[in-house]
Amino acid sequence: MNSLIDSFGRQIDYVRLAVTDRCNLRCQYCMPAHGIDIVPKDELLTFDEMTRLIRVLSELGVKKVRLTGGEPFVRKDFIQFLEMLSFNDLLQEINITTNGALISEHISKIETLKKVKTINLSIDSLQREKFAKITRRDVFPEVFKTFELLEKSSLQLKLNVVVQSGFNTDEINDFVRLTKDKNVAVRFIEEMPFNGKGQREMNKNWTFPKILNEIKREFEVTEIQSEKSSTSRNYKIENHIGSVGIIPAFTRTICSDCNRIRITSKGTFKNCLFDDGVFNLLDFIRNGASDEDVKTLFLSLVKEKPENGFIAEANRKKGSVSESMSTIGG
Ligand code: SAM
Ligand code: SF4
Repeated sequence: MNSLIDSFGRQIDYVRLAVTDRCNLRCQYCMPAHGIDIVPKDELLTFDEMTRLIRVLSELGVKKVRLTGGEPFVRKDFIQFLEMLSFNDLLQEINITTNGALISEHISKIETLKKVKTINLSIDSLQREKFAKITRRDVFPEVFKTFELLEKSSLQLKLNVVVQSGFNTDEINDFVRLTKDKNVAVRFIEEMPFNGKGQREMNKNWTFPKILNEIKREFEVTEIQSEKSSTSRNYKIENHIGSVGIIPAFTRTICSDCNRIRITSKGTFKNCLFDDGVFNLLDFIRNGASDEDVKTLFLSLVKEKPENGFIAEANRKKGSVSESMSTIGG
């Protein structure tokens, strides 16, 4: 079987698919207060088109899909799409990244979909007022309810915490404390300039080592063996049920084991978070490409995958990184 191997020998078996660019929140590190220019609906991939692209990718060896956005649960019929995708016998895992404000009523249904293994819940503060300041929406009670329901559910739960200088760094160890009694993987993410504007003013640069040092001020951590392609470096703390991870998203020390590609909600193929989009899949399939054509295309596109995020960024034609993460699919 032909499989997706890039020119550095990396096997691609994971796709991140943004199902929408719309969102019910306005996180300050992701988009401006007034939101972003959303794409007209007919320029978004339909769920049928997404199902088809994922089927073709799974025939080329992709085993894992992450559904993200924008906020996936904002898109109408997202649960039906999840069911449709679950019928793909070649996929092993379908995971979802969500802000959690709209999902509590769907959790029991999601638990019945056996391919859905992990939910990544984004939660950047445990304090209602601060949460509202960061997300520009007062939805903390609903998000926390989702957190509690997911923690009790059969789904694996990971928390995504974007570490924002001057906003939530004082809460890093409050999040770590959650792992004592809760079976949750808390992952701290370095902030990137994907916010609709570009690099934000920061008092301090909260990079991987700084975050780790902050945790070590209070806890003794032991690094645990992670999957080779893991985006986070992960740690255990004695007598804690959960675990802690740090994602060096901006300092990009994980690229050599990268196994993923991305498709945005408007059908742009991306080999790397930091590239500016390398192919318009939507036009290609709407112009009548067969599944074989799409396969051949994917096989050649991954050959262009840059060695790392710095090279991808340097090769950009559209200038420095500033697009909102909600258009890329984080
Ligand atoms: N709306 C969903 C959510 O917030 O989980 C899914 C989409 S969001 C773009 C995916 C992830 O990207 C979230 O965990 C979010 O915190 C993270 N993210 C967004 N903008 C970011 C940035 N500028 N730097 C680092 N992480 C970012
Ligand atoms: Fe929406 Fe997620 Fe971006 Fe926040 S991080 S604005 S929830 S897409």
